Amino acid sequence: MIVYKFGGASIKDASGVKNLFRIVKSVSDKLIIVVSAFGKTTNALEEIHKLSYDNLPLCKDKIKNLFLYHYRIMDELFDDKKHPIFYIIKLEFDHLQESVENKEYGTFDEKYDQIISFGEIFSTKIISEYLNKTGFANQWIDIRKSLVTDATFRDAEVDFTLSEKKIKSTFDFNHNGIYYITQGFIGGTKNGLTTTLGREGSDYTAALLAYFLDAAEVVVWKDVEGILNADPQYFTETSKLNKLSYQEIVELAYFGAKVIHPKTIKPLHNKNIPLKVKSFMNPKGDGTVIQCFEEYEEDLPVIILKKQQVLVSLFPKDLSFVIEDELSKIFKYLSDHRIKVNLIQNSAISFSFCFDNTNNKVKKLIEHLKEDFKVLYNDNLELLTIRHYSAQAIEKVTKGRKVFIEQRSRHTAHFVVK
Ligand code: ASP
Ligand code: MG
Repeated sequence: MIVYKFGGASIKDASGVKNLFRIVKSVSDKLIIVVSAFGKTTNALEEIHKLSYDNLPLCKDKIKNLFLYHYRIMDELFDDKKHPIFYIIKLEFDHLQESVENKEYGTFDEKYDQIISFGEIFSTKIISEYLNKTGFANQWIDIRKSLVTDATFRDAEVDFTLSEKKIKSTFDFNHNGIYYITQGFIGGTKNGLTTTLGREGSDYTAALLAYFLDAAEVVVWKDVEGILNADPQYFTETSKLNKLSYQEIVELAYFGAKVIHPKTIKPLHNKNIPLKVKSFMNPKGDGTVIQCFEEYEEDLPVIILKKQQVLVSLFPKDLSFVIEDELSKIFKYLSDHRIKVNLIQNSAISFSFCFDNTNNKVKKLIEHLKEDFKVLYNDNLELLTIRHYSAQAIEKVTKGRKVFIEQRSRHTAHFVVK
């Protein structure tokens, strides 16, 4: 059994869906297809969710645009305009409109998940019907009923024990056929509320299904040839990496490489299931294989850029040491507020850390720290990480930048820069 995952970029239009069909039809093995929302649908839904609080008319317009986008894809895929899919999707959009107007959701995040999850419902229903119509008989599965999570909306924690049981009985290859299609990124609580696993979480779903069902491999289909040694958005010269160890990819994801969702690797590593990243434009290409490899065999430094960093430095007001007691208080605050620290540096009388500037947590953090410390901070910084660095690579990427902190270990060099 194998798991294929298609991200939004690979299915942003009707030709993407046709391409998906070409790729899956050559699979003879049992297969689960995990799908994200079409193109940039999730971003559009995030906007719709925000607008639902203060501008319902504009919100309605945005929903209409999103409907038209999906309609155009269906229109191109289905010649028979009486095909039930047109009605099915119209109905789902009505449900979306209802959720938008619903005032009963407990919190902002709870409502977010109920709305954002529609993207994957739309895409999987359309693709499933299209594949059925073209002779690729498959079962559509509502993963919210099998992938059980807690109620941490927007970053839900999967209940492994319960999910394993449910997923094994839902994806029953011995009785229900051999091809399944389901949603990435979303799950459900025991009480039937929808949750999400964090943006770009479809990779994680694919890995979880592979883990529970002992898949032979997972293939993530992308719009690049595989994993590159730098993000082509920021760097002009990039090359594909052919083989990476699980450990290597975790390091890359941790420091901000947007290659694979960071939670994806652990379940695969636990069962030694290989992960392939391949190009949906070139399905015969080798892509990148991620597996247990002892050594880094590539001859390339890997460069990762993490933007929107804040660097905070703390100094005790009375020149005392920043001792363990103080540190544990600081860390507790950071973890309570889910602030993700990327780099730490300390001396006898100072402690600095660099973290992602998300959800406007900086101001409150600074105020809190000012009670006990003298605080200095800089924002709008970047964290540059170079794995398997060379002097030449460092020179190249730090040239002309102001370096605030520099750290080197045997394989990795970090620079906090402006
Ligand atoms: N559609 C979701 C997102 O864009 C999940 C995913 O693509 O993996 O974040
Ligand atoms: Mg997506």
